[in-house]
Amino acid sequence: MAQDTLFSKIVHGEIPADIIHQDDLVTAFRDIRPLTPTHILIVPNKVIPTLADVSEDHEPVLGRMLRVAADLAANEGVAEDGYRVIINCRDHGGQEVYHLHLHLLGGRPLGPMVRR
Ligand code: AMP
Repeated sequence: MAQDTLFSKIVHGEIPADIIHQDDLVTAFRDIRPLTPTHILIVPNKVIPTLADVSEDHEPVLGRMLRVAADLAANEGVAEDGYRVIINCRDHGGQEVYHLHLHLLGGRPLGPMVRR
């Protein structure tokens, strides 16, 4: 079923997560295996499998994901020093969960963007 992803179960409260923001379009929760002091995932409430699957209809939710990321970065106290936002897409992008999500990473210097 299209809605039956790990993250849609979190969105609908069917499995526990540390949810720090939820509105009509998106949900944000702390990554279960944080890579940095701040590691938050921001997902659309309705499943979009990957960034490669977005269409014009998704523009409002994509905009909301980015605005919530900026707001949460400020709330977490990482905005002044800076942070990184990542979307992994499909196999070469290293995507593990096929429910579009944005990683908000911060709280320490993050080094080079990718390994050469
Ligand atoms: P990606 O590799 O971009 O698909 O990232 C998937 C992320 O989901 C990883 O950083 C995982 O640590 C995270 N993750 C997996 N299961 C959970 C969960 N139950 N709650 C929170 N984060 C999770």
